Amino acid sequence: YFRSLERIGIELNEPQLQAVRHGDGPLLTLAGAGAGKTTMLVCRTGYMLSVRRIPPGRMLLLTFSSKAAAEMRERIAALPGMTGRETAQLYARTFHSFFLQLIRRQGVEQDIFSSTQRQHIVLKQIMRELGIQGPYQPETLLSLLSSYKLNMLTVAAMPGNTAGEKDMKQILLRYEQWKQDNGQMDFDDVLLVAHRMLKDDPGLLRSLQDRFHYVMVDEFQDTNELQYELVRMLAAPRRNLMVVGDDDQTIYSFNGAKSEFLLEFEQLYPDAAVVTLDINYRSTAVIVGLGNEIIRHNVRRRTKTLQATRQGTGQPQYIRPATSDEEAQHIVGYIKREVDDGRRSYGDFAILYRAASNSRAMLEQLMLQDIPHIEYGDGILLYDHGLVKPIVDYLRLSQDRRNFQAMESIMPSLYLNRERAMAHIRAHDQIRPKKGPLIYLRSLPGLRDFQREKIKERLALIRSLKIMKPEQAIAYIRRQFYDAYIEANENHKMTQHKELQKELLDELETSAKRFGTISELLAFIDQVKLKSSTDAAGKSQEQGDRIALMTIHRAKGLEFPVVLLIGACEGSLPHSSALEADRMKDIYTKESGMQKLQIALEEERRLAYVAVTRAREELLISSPSLYRGRKAAVSRFVLAPFESGEVQRGKTMVAVPAWFCTGKPCKAWTRISEVEHALEAKECPLCQAPMAKGSREVPV
Ligand code: ATP
Ligand code: MG
Repeated sequence: YFRSLERIGIELNEPQLQAVRHGDGPLLTLAGAGAGKTTMLVCRTGYMLSVRRIPPGRMLLLTFSSKAAAEMRERIAALPGMTGRETAQLYARTFHSFFLQLIRRQGVEQDIFSSTQRQHIVLKQIMRELGIQGPYQPETLLSLLSSYKLNMLTVAAMPGNTAGEKDMKQILLRYEQWKQDNGQMDFDDVLLVAHRMLKDDPGLLRSLQDRFHYVMVDEFQDTNELQYELVRMLAAPRRNLMVVGDDDQTIYSFNGAKSEFLLEFEQLYPDAAVVTLDINYRSTAVIVGLGNEIIRHNVRRRTKTLQATRQGTGQPQYIRPATSDEEAQHIVGYIKREVDDGRRSYGDFAILYRAASNSRAMLEQLMLQDIPHIEYGDGILLYDHGLVKPIVDYLRLSQDRRNFQAMESIMPSLYLNRERAMAHIRAHDQIRPKKGPLIYLRSLPGLRDFQREKIKERLALIRSLKIMKPEQAIAYIRRQFYDAYIEANENHKMTQHKELQKELLDELETSAKRFGTISELLAFIDQVKLKSSTDAAGKSQEQGDRIALMTIHRAKGLEFPVVLLIGACEGSLPHSSALEADRMKDIYTKESGMQKLQIALEEERRLAYVAVTRAREELLISSPSLYRGRKAAVSRFVLAPFESGEVQRGKTMVAVPAWFCTGKPCKAWTRISEVEHALEAKECPLCQAPMAKGSREVPV
């Protein structure tokens, strides 16, 4: 069997062989990134099927993302001797899809919300019914809810101390009730329901245990309480549980993931066979070295060594563009050159970032330049986000006070019933058309005082926005309506969400900076929206020959020839929500504040580690000097290898995008940011030789 594997290019090393041949009983593999854990799991499955003749239906392989599960199925199907029938019978699934099927078979008929859009509609409806004031975003509410569920907590356990907390709790309680009454479920409910079912119905549990004799879990470091419990229940009688993972890659602790489950596996299963892998087959030596150098600084970890085998001398590239828009231009330019020159194809590249909102500039560049790409994520454009959209609508109204569509969409922010209010406006406008028909709201019957107040305030807002610069207008709206609300939230669990909201607004402001007038900004938004809706139609999730864009979280377990890590600056990676823990040391005791910071920082460092270890051959790290409108230092994780003396500061150069004079003796250069908008620098200002785009090295 192993010789047949070699024929398809898989030559397993000794420990991998040991794990593949392992018979029954628990098995643990704890090893660093790219050490061949998933490969081993895949080959073991093949071995069990082909050599041990275990029926495919007896095995259950679980992982976290559907992309990873699909990849696992593909890799198993490609093994020697696999038939289509066998692969079809094999369960290689995500936790969710597996347990969803289980509860469906048990007659649970509740629909899972078909889109987040629908959940948003329900939440907004509930807020309107409850008459709750304050711009709570559906996105925020849902992620808050999710974090409770994954820790096996219910909404009832949410704190309700401040007004904000009380509101949110009330909304979410009502939401849970609504789902029950209307036969709907959230994504997260699936595991909870399955768990309850298996607990309450021993017969059902037993039938599953009899069905699946072998349970194998990849990326085990990111299991949360609920998932671990489910796995343990399934594997209980036979104890044929194989788990593989890397404690350095735990990146879902905010969702309840605990690497302790991996580290303490041997205590729960003292007879577990332990296999250690320490050769990295994925990346070049330089990249492996950089990964090691980054993660070395974490205190809470099990030390692992990782040796590189792959040849290749390419050093990681560092760039320091001025802004994220400049970063996008530079990176898109770089990718295009690589593809045009035939060195790479689009499918070789992955652009990774810390937070979903970081992809705005990148997506715009790719869309406008018609470069094939696919974003793995919720696919909501910045301008359509629940927090941002009303702002855009107010901007629209400031330019065109007869924009009925925008009028309609701001009604909820005035606490008015959309249909009724619009009917009223339209009816009056038909009799006596006005430049600004919104004014008819003032005669809407049954207005309460606070609504009247709101209407007055927003009409004034629309007037005052009219001649502002776009950036100024957005800053003004934020100051007036958002900042106080976002800051007032004292719930520490909400730090993440709070930062996310600020980030979105910062991003909108940054985006607006590029335009001189509001109408220019709006025209651009329309162009991007149009492009994105035509691009999205009928596209598959397969990467194909397209550039992949995703958050670091989604990239776990995957690999790409070239990885471009963008936004590698303080505030982004480490994320400001982690740094916020430092600010909280006044609220908690000094020590626990520091400790919180340490823990949060360690998770951020693991994210940096996951990001760089996705690269097989090339790595480019970009740290814009302006992030969210403020000056941002290069990420401490990027600098760590420099600081450890491995590489010397001041002597190490980073590349900055620039225009170059091609005339040899002159060598004049300008940073792209200084000239990009003003001129396509065609000739050198000093010697009039043609200028070329490139990059210039400056010291770190
Ligand atoms: P991660 O921690 O990122 O999930 P991993 O430990 O699961 O990584 P794999 O994805 O299994 O690592 O393997 C990384 C790369 O190394 C893959 O391209 C795989 O094909 C290759 N590889 C794994 N084992 C071997 C081996 N024995 N010989 C040659 N290449 C190997
Ligand atoms: Mg893996």
